[in-house]
Amino acid sequence: MTKSTADIRQGFMDFFGKKGHQTVSSSSLVPENDPTLLFTNAGMNQFKDTFLGTEKRAYTRATSSQRCVRAGGKHNDLDNVGYTARHHTFFEMLGNFSFGDYFKEEAIGFAWEYLTDVLKIPKEKLLVTVYESDDEAFSLWADKIGVPEDKIIRIGDKSPEKKYESDNFWSMGDTGPCGPCSEIFYDHGEHIWGGPPGTPEEDGDRFIEIWNIVFMQFNRSADGTMENLPNPSIDTGMGLERISAIIQNGHSNYDIDLFQGLIQKVADVTGAKDLQDKSLRVVADHIRSCGFLICDGVMPSNEGRGYVLRRIIRRAVRHGHKLGAKEVFFYRIYEELIKQMGDAYPELGQQREFVEKILRLEEEQFGKTLERGLLILDNELDALKGSVIPGDVVFKLYDTYGFPADLTADIARERELTIDEDGFDSAMAEQRKRAQAANNFGKDYNDVLKIEGKTEFIGYQALVGSSTVA
Ligand code: ATP
Ligand code: MG
Ligand code: MG
Ligand code: MG
Repeated sequence: MTKSTADIRQGFMDFFGKKGHQTVSSSSLVPENDPTLLFTNAGMNQFKDTFLGTEKRAYTRATSSQRCVRAGGKHNDLDNVGYTARHHTFFEMLGNFSFGDYFKEEAIGFAWEYLTDVLKIPKEKLLVTVYESDDEAFSLWADKIGVPEDKIIRIGDKSPEKKYESDNFWSMGDTGPCGPCSEIFYDHGEHIWGGPPGTPEEDGDRFIEIWNIVFMQFNRSADGTMENLPNPSIDTGMGLERISAIIQNGHSNYDIDLFQGLIQKVADVTGAKDLQDKSLRVVADHIRSCGFLICDGVMPSNEGRGYVLRRIIRRAVRHGHKLGAKEVFFYRIYEELIKQMGDAYPELGQQREFVEKILRLEEEQFGKTLERGLLILDNELDALKGSVIPGDVVFKLYDTYGFPADLTADIARERELTIDEDGFDSAMAEQRKRAQAANNFGKDYNDVLKIEGKTEFIGYQALVGSSTVA
């Protein structure tokens, strides 16, 4: 029998447990004491201070399965969802960490042993990358592990100006611990489009990155300078859904057990017939990020983290609408999320009533304007000349109908159109100026409305959540 995703999660931590690693629970999606970070985006986040040497722990080796959201900030995969086989807004990152304990040789050895001995992945399916100048990592792969040299790819900096933006130089954000890395890729086969890393076709889904081993050596400050960390350390991250897809003989992450359950549920709830419809994958993805974010205390709002959550919910609702949902549907999928992931994350079940209520309210509120907004957009598109939706249209959809700009961009993309982001931004700036001027009237605010006589403006006030965003 093939391993379930839950078995793989546990098996990974057991493997590293036997190698002397302390199992550490996933931290919250809302980073503690780290204003530089929107959401937890990697397993190493909770160990940031340990890498920096300012926090001591009782252990020097750790392993975890960390819940992550990449829907904003430096790592943002929101627009990839539904389009690639490998990206989610929410995913779990399996990791092993060394805080000044082992370094390159053991880290590479452990990863190879786990993939080829424990999971029995055929060696010839794997290839690796190293940072351009990292001869040490290259020779570890070539001489110690025995990977053929033509399957070890050196990757340099993308451009001289962006010195540290290489895929083989990892950083969690603009500041913080970082270092060169070595990544392991799996070849899903010739029948799938895409090329190995370093080629122009690398964005395809044939060669999928499964594991990143970061050789943590530096701390980058806001001005770009790099200081050595007190001790060279190891941070690794492997996407649970990606490794599970391989083990369960699938190609796409969306083929794995837990996603199949979610996708079926979305189809049942919306009445969708075609199980290949990309909107099913989008909704199945989004219930995970939204469900977990609410469980971790994020509430839909008009700014910051809450606005990212609101945007994801609205995108899910729009896709559900496309699939044929006739009534409020999104919260009903949460039950399946509990079924699929509630054992590993009991808080999902414990907070069921609350999460469902928030999702329902948020959808009800947006649902009122969704249809009308879509109608307006359709009319605009019929009249559109060229392939760019003007900024004032995007703004009107945002301001009056609660369509975040990225939602309009998502719709535009389905029709091979783009949006005029600059135009939208200047319309927003105008709006802010007007709002500020209005605020200056202080208590007489209502009088201003009367004087202007704009009923629309009052209406927009009533549409809680559809308006001004910081
Ligand atoms: P990619 O190049 O495919 O976008 P990445 O280089 O951005 O991945 P890392 O920052 O190196 O990813 O994260 C470590 C691992 O986490 C990746 O090797 C991958 O297995 C997994 N991972 C990263 N982003 C996602 C995502 N959006 N959804 C699912 N898994 C992911
Ligand atoms: Mg990425
Ligand atoms: Mg990558
Ligand atoms: Mg990577």
